[in-house]
Amino acid sequence: MTEQNAHFDIIIIGSGPAGFTAAIYAARGGASTALFGGVAPGGQLLQTMEIENYPGFVEPVVGADLMMKMLSQAKRLGAAVFNEEITSVDFSGRPFRLTAGSGKSYTAGAVIVATGAQARWLGMPSEQKFIGKGVSGCATCDGFFFRGKEVCVVGGGDSAAEDALFLTRFASRVYLVHRRDALRATFRLQEKLRANPKIEIIYDHTPEEFTGEAKLTGVSLKNVKTGALLRLEVTGVFIAIGHTPATKLFAGKLNLDDSGYIVTDSNLATSVFGVFAAGDVMDTRYKQAIVAAGAGCKASMEALLYLEDVKK
Ligand code: NAP
Repeated sequence: MTEQNAHFDIIIIGSGPAGFTAAIYAARGGASTALFGGVAPGGQLLQTMEIENYPGFVEPVVGADLMMKMLSQAKRLGAAVFNEEITSVDFSGRPFRLTAGSGKSYTAGAVIVATGAQARWLGMPSEQKFIGKGVSGCATCDGFFFRGKEVCVVGGGDSAAEDALFLTRFASRVYLVHRRDALRATFRLQEKLRANPKIEIIYDHTPEEFTGEAKLTGVSLKNVKTGALLRLEVTGVFIAIGHTPATKLFAGKLNLDDSGYIVTDSNLATSVFGVFAAGDVMDTRYKQAIVAAGAGCKASMEALLYLEDVKK
């Protein structure tokens, strides 16, 4: 194995719960394993202050701490972890060829793609300032912290509707703010929204500015038809305007669905034999760390079986 063209049985791209779990199972399964985690390994959980729903932690665990534990565990079991990005992949022949940002190339018997998806943000500076301080991209993760408080959800699709309904378990009032005069969410969810006395739908508005000192205390909304401003005194705003899967690298190389997610079968196999995908990069529904970790485990078990099969 030379430094310029190192070969591994399994190469994992991505360093969230799916990637690290895949690395743990691959290394423990006896495969030479490398994980490319990008320049800041950890994925979306690096932005999550406290996680209370990952089993095994009685007290809340900070997202970054959980990811560092997974990283250390993968390394202890023998996985090589590279803090660099994979910038190109060639799945046209075997072994698969991958090139990293440093220019070094690597080959792999099997590849697991676990590059995740990013919650979309509105993009204004005041929103970015309050992420983790009242602005959140995950109601399931952070809703619990808003017991008895007034909160707002931005978006009009199924995610926004589900988030609004979920948040009524904790919040005293939930404003659902949508930029148009009709929701995109399914009829069933819309009925549930309208039947819930804690929910108020505010149509034709978008956030203009998030305000507060150390933590969020309110948001100004702009009426897209009249330009009038409306102020909501809320301590939590949940942005639910969709996710973007990190699949640019795989366009034209793996089958992607219309939204850009990698299409897999139930064994997490992609359209290329020997390439598997796990976690939010293929999960259009759950987007939870524990689900991604489970998928990472499955993908590694399948990759190990695949390597056994091709050896025969
Ligand atoms: P989505 O369907 O793409 O909806 C995104 C919503 O955000 C839309 O209402 C959109 O407004 C709004 N939006 C987008 N950009 C915005 C911006 N810059 N400012 C303000 N609003 C903005 O995304 P999703 O709700 O996350 O759902 C993604 C997929 O997962 C869908 O196929 C959905 O059916 C599925 N899903 C299913 C379930 C379920 O079955 N239980 C649950 C969640 C998600 P417009 O309507 O004006 O475009």
